[in-house]
Amino acid sequence: MPIFEFRCLDCGELFEKLFINSNEEVDIECPECSGKSFERVVSRTSHVMAIGAGASKPKITTKSCAPGNQCTTIDLPGYSK
Ligand SMILES: [Zn+2]
Repeated sequence: MPIFEFRCLDCGELFEKLFINSNEEVDIECPECSGKSFERVVSRTSHVMAIGAGASKPKITTKSCAPGNQCTTIDLPGYSK
């Protein structure tokens, strides 16, 4: 179940919303001011992913650099040896 983070454009409150179903249309409102204007916030800490357990396999790390932008870093262990 994906958890998305939002920032209220009215008061700046940060809050998380859990989506049971990604196709679900949800009515979101700010817990602070009940505002209905938001921007989506991409968490900088929870989107780090490592693929490949063996040392000989490339390690792919995905991280978010800024909201709306996604940077992908591919590490190749031992590539230059
Ligand atoms: Zn608000």
